Amino acid sequence: MPYKTVCILLIFFCFCVNKKHSTTPVAETTIVIDLQPFVGITAAQVDYVFAGLKKNYPFISINKPIALPTTAYYAARNRYRADSLINFLRSRTEAGHKTIGLTNKDISTTKAGVADWGVMGLGFCPGNACIASTYRFTKKEINGQLFKVAIHELGHTFGLPHCPVKYCFMRDAEGGNPTNEEKEFCTKCKFFLVSKGWVLTKD
Ligand SMILES: [Zn+2]
Ligand SMILES: [Zn+2]
Repeated sequence: MPYKTVCILLIFFCFCVNKKHSTTPVAETTIVIDLQPFVGITAAQVDYVFAGLKKNYPFISINKPIALPTTAYYAARNRYRADSLINFLRSRTEAGHKTIGLTNKDISTTKAGVADWGVMGLGFCPGNACIASTYRFTKKEINGQLFKVAIHELGHTFGLPHCPVKYCFMRDAEGGNPTNEEKEFCTKCKFFLVSKGWVLTKD
């Protein structure tokens, strides 16, 4: 009886589960941005900023317009203190939200040794409230300028400092209005914001 050799072939299937982390950074928490119009800013301006921001940061809503707080009014210069407006907005901001106020009135802060320095916007870095004003804009393309100042101030609240890149939204205005040279966030600022949940979709 021939010796019968039985060969057993064992096949091992290896199921590998790829646990590699996604290359897209995920924000630690989802923060909601609330647009807070102050009476005087137009609905069209608010809608324009909302649409532009939403392409870059999906979690955003619009509050009903409210009056500017008289406590922030600086009668000597007929304008509003931006720091006081931020404090006002901060006191109304829920946990997990950031508020950006939009106004057509002149706003000011203390800067570079000047007690009352007019600005287009102000935001603390980081912070949960900021403010943008159309008052100092050139008459052309006010909507576009408002969007750029708004996204700049929101960048500060998410922790972005000023950026030396001339076309970057985080450029320091240095007392002027360079918004016509600002095109988008630079690569470095984009990388930072994506880690905070921004999507930064271009048109
Ligand atoms: Zn700034
Ligand atoms: Zn930059």
